[in-house]
Amino acid sequence: MGSAVLTEAITAIRDWSVTEAKDTRFARATETFGSLVFNDAVQQTRLPKPVYHALRRTITLGVPLDNSVADAIASAMKEWAVEHGATHYTHWFQPLTGITAEKHDSFLSPTGDGKAVAEFSGKELIKGEPDASSFPSGGMRSTFEARGYTAWDPTSAPWLLKSGNSTTLVIPTAFVSWTGEALDKKTPLLRSMEALSKQAVRVLRLFGSRAERVVTTCGPEQEYFLIDRYFYLSRPDLINAGRTLFGARPPKGQELEDQYFGSIPDRVMAFMSEVETELYKVGVPVKTRHNEVAPSQYEIAPVFENANVATDHQMMTMETMRRTAPKYGLACLLHEKPFAGVNGSGKHLNWSISDDLGHNLLSPGANPHDNMQFLVFCVAVVRAVNKWQGLLRASIASAGNDHRLGANEAPPAIISVFLGDMLTDIFEQIEKGSARSSKHGGELDTGVLVLPKLPRDAGDRNRTSPFAFTGNKFEFRAVSSNQSIGYPNIALNVAVTESLDYIATELEKATASGKSLEHAVAELLPKVIKEHKRIIFNGNNYAKEWEKEAAKRGLQNLKNTPDALPQLIARDVTGIFEKYKVLNEREVHARYDVMVEMYNKTVNVEGQLMVLMSNRYILPAALEYQKHVAQSVAAVKAAGGRSIEGKKVLDRLTKLIDDFKRRADKLQYALEHEANGDAVKHARHFRDVVIPAMATLRDAGDELELILPHETWPLATYREMLFIK
Ligand code: ADP
Ligand code: MG
Repeated sequence: MGSAVLTEAITAIRDWSVTEAKDTRFARATETFGSLVFNDAVQQTRLPKPVYHALRRTITLGVPLDNSVADAIASAMKEWAVEHGATHYTHWFQPLTGITAEKHDSFLSPTGDGKAVAEFSGKELIKGEPDASSFPSGGMRSTFEARGYTAWDPTSAPWLLKSGNSTTLVIPTAFVSWTGEALDKKTPLLRSMEALSKQAVRVLRLFGSRAERVVTTCGPEQEYFLIDRYFYLSRPDLINAGRTLFGARPPKGQELEDQYFGSIPDRVMAFMSEVETELYKVGVPVKTRHNEVAPSQYEIAPVFENANVATDHQMMTMETMRRTAPKYGLACLLHEKPFAGVNGSGKHLNWSISDDLGHNLLSPGANPHDNMQFLVFCVAVVRAVNKWQGLLRASIASAGNDHRLGANEAPPAIISVFLGDMLTDIFEQIEKGSARSSKHGGELDTGVLVLPKLPRDAGDRNRTSPFAFTGNKFEFRAVSSNQSIGYPNIALNVAVTESLDYIATELEKATASGKSLEHAVAELLPKVIKEHKRIIFNGNNYAKEWEKEAAKRGLQNLKNTPDALPQLIARDVTGIFEKYKVLNEREVHARYDVMVEMYNKTVNVEGQLMVLMSNRYILPAALEYQKHVAQSVAAVKAAGGRSIEGKKVLDRLTKLIDDFKRRADKLQYALEHEANGDAVKHARHFRDVVIPAMATLRDAGDELELILPHETWPLATYREMLFIK
């Protein structure tokens, strides 16, 4: 079996490299880019002027769209889509499951004379009503009607999805219940961006800015694995759980460090290139590609955009990668930890805030005044991360990410901020009174809070930090490869909103009492830094000592999902979500319920799969080999020999098989636990009983793998999956 799969994979690789040479697609990327998007340029040429301007006002200023212009937009959108071959449209949304959902409706409308016309009204554009009852709502709908509505998000451009031989107009939408409660990730994201904008503008006003709005920007770096599809298809665990539940470490793993930024294999390059082309067409500005640290691990990253659009684009990126891989005989694994013993995958959420005049508020800028404003925003973020560390940790909690955080290769479960030496030094100086010198000894202007000029790349790198300042943005590195960036973005926005509100309020009070802004800032920042600096850590986050040090500093260390999730519904957390109108208490609880539920379902599926693989794959193979060895030992004996080593193999095999089967039964028993209406207790059972049972079963399984002959072993091995490209 093992070798049959191997042969298939090798054949596939050979066949691919034969056809590869024929493939010539030389479309200009600049022409391809955005060709399937109903973007600004298309809107400009296709919409009547007043309609176009109304739409722009909605997109840039958040002015609600007049219903009367919706019909005109819908009609132009339909014309454009139909010209490009579209037959259907879909309201595309992001339910709480973390994936995307779409239901397709045809444009066609029969005319009664046996013919049909393509129709699409403003009403259909603005509002949809998918049968929503089977999406998780965390109980939000149980007391109400099961209805859910999708509402057009005009700030994210519609695009055409080409799949199979069909073309569909995809309309990004929010998903809400009939009472207006958010059933998705987009609605609270938009609300949180609105909330942050309001508070940031207050701060900007104090600095004399004319900015009217602020947006959060983000650029998510996506890590993923690509393996041969034959191997993938031979593994029930990869198909159903997205990660390997068994698999002995290969003799060669990533220890030679010969993979990171290494040359990209041809077949992988072809995959990447197609993914990029497809993403260009739908307007996703992907930019970077490279090998990652683990064998067969890669990364793709776009240029940053408005966080709402970036979040939609991120979902499209994951979807496009999944969809494209089989064309190249590959499977794309987005799980956080597909393989034990080599690096897992993360998604680095690069995050910043920028005003409508085009200034990045986390860019240190070129003069002391900019620096002062920059420092206020930077301190606000540091304060937010310290104060709301529990929320941030919980926003990235999942069964999959538990394998990563705290393991020896990913940021720990402890949230901290990396500022880099120079910025930390400046923070220390401010805390002591005022920043008067820079570490590099620059000349300083006079003034109370005159700050050294910060070079744009104010900082070194620290790959171990879960939340790092990287020159002109923060990078939330603990986010998982598999999750939507919606919730971490929301959590971050809400935390920073609260922080900016606090700072704006303090500064407004001080300036109202006649203090100069410089004076007010010079009084406030040292206080805030003193109170929140425990979150700053520039050292090695992987080191054991950091865990002790963090405990001393009173930082939270929420090691797993059941520990972390209650942070989402902590009283002060629901308090700020309500205060800034991002989610009401019920909406927060709904998300919490869904996340607990997802944890339980994930671990349950994995446990069941392990039992299945044990009883139907590994055990039969092991028993077969046991019989074979027993026969061989018996044959040697019958011939008058002693078969000392053969007997040893048999004894060890017999003991291992017994252990293995006992452990599989124990896991099966552990999985019989009932939730009895208490999902949280159920989650703890999964964490404390099921997961340890899975780990011991895996140990025995992996030992068996190491002694069973290659032909007998029923699963593709790590060595094959990771190194045959
Ligand atoms: P790396 O962190 O791997 O060195 P870069 O610094 O080039 O890579 O950027 C990583 C990501 O951060 C990219 O997606 C980039 O577009 C994004 N990024 C850069 N500036 C900002 C910003 N102001 N806001 C949000 N994301 C940004
Ligand atoms: Mg990075």
